[in-house]
Amino acid sequence: MYSLEPQKCAELLNSSKSVVVLTGAGISTSAGIPDFRGPQGLYVTRKYDPEKVFNIEWFQREPKYFYEFTKDFTDCLKNIKPTFTHNYLIRLEQAGLLKGIITQNIDILHQAAGSKNVIELHGSYSSATCQTCKQQIKGLTYNWWCDKIASSNSSPVVICQKCGGYIKPDIVFFGEPVTAYEEAELLINKCDLLLVLGSSLNVTPASILPRLTSATTVIVNKGEVSLQASPQRYFINEDLDVYFSKVSEHLKWKL
Ligand code: ZN
Repeated sequence: MYSLEPQKCAELLNSSKSVVVLTGAGISTSAGIPDFRGPQGLYVTRKYDPEKVFNIEWFQREPKYFYEFTKDFTDCLKNIKPTFTHNYLIRLEQAGLLKGIITQNIDILHQAAGSKNVIELHGSYSSATCQTCKQQIKGLTYNWWCDKIASSNSSPVVICQKCGGYIKPDIVFFGEPVTAYEEAELLINKCDLLLVLGSSLNVTPASILPRLTSATTVIVNKGEVSLQASPQRYFINEDLDVYFSKVSEHLKWKL
């Protein structure tokens, strides 16, 4: 039924020395975070235009537009828990098998689950920088954003206490460079098994990374994936948690 039966996938994991994981929106949808672009995503239900929400020029001109989105997004995220797959990845990291996670997600769920080595290609809400005085604040949670936005007066903005400038989360906006790419490339080059989980590989630079390695690559994604077929690539069109719970039955590391 699958192009790679769960037991075979487990055998690959059991015999690997160095695994790297690349994750996209699909790993978080079963946690209850709607894919922004999916039918229930905020882009669709609340009519946000992604080109404006995450656009640095728009942020500088009209920051309220971004904070309106952030208000909705953080409200829906503050009670979300990591998924089965998020939790299994911590287990594999603790076992010394998983060398790192590269994620396209800005939801901080890998860290919330307890993963240590996480490269956030698009940044996240976990740190922020004042656009005027450049002071950076770290270790931010969704509750922090909710509280700050709730306490702002008329419109939802987050203002620097020191200088009154706008506080922008360190998310990579359209028009900004992806600073974590080189680190991700170095990590990919070290793996003997790459798992691509919940990404359709439609967005650069994540779409480039699997093409850089000749390692065996297992791609699990509900839906189409933009990556050419090759003998060392296995494509599984399935819900991640469903597939991974089957894989885990045959793994030598238990949760
Ligand atoms: Zn400031």
